[in-house]
Amino acid sequence: MRRCTACFRFQPGRPTYCAFCGRSFDVRLCPRGHRSPRHVTFCAECGSSDLSTATPPSSPLFRFSGWALYGLGSIGLLIVLVVIVGALLSTVDWQALVNPLLNLLLMLAFLYWTTTLLPGPVKKVGRMAGRQILKTLRKNKNNDYQRKSRL
Ligand SMILES: [Zn+2]
Ligand SMILES: [Zn+2]
Repeated sequence: MRRCTACFRFQPGRPTYCAFCGRSFDVRLCPRGHRSPRHVTFCAECGSSDLSTATPPSSPLFRFSGWALYGLGSIGLLIVLVVIVGALLSTVDWQALVNPLLNLLLMLAFLYWTTTLLPGPVKKVGRMAGRQILKTLRKNKNNDYQRKSRL
């Protein structure tokens, strides 16, 4: 994650240029891709004057605003979570919800179990279960048949 010091936008990864204002991060770049410090007028390696505009150096204020954004974001998220959980806890009729909740938990546990076993073992279990079902179905059919033939 990189944040442009000129337009203050966040960008994923470590890009060379800001995708929003076109400035190069931290250094000036010539068309051949040589990296020169911010203050130069010509490329230090090939002398090209066609240098990209560098992002301004990060000021303490910029760093502070980044931290503030981060802090405010996480605090906001925490507050929202607390409010939601609090509202849920206060409105829930626990006695009536124990069974559905247990079912939900079981279902989630089962889902979790299937995701941890994916893909090979699940297929095997599914195939085994399928075979078992077919077997019992066939047995029942046979029993019915025998019963009918006996009658
Ligand atoms: Zn930018
Ligand atoms: Zn150059």
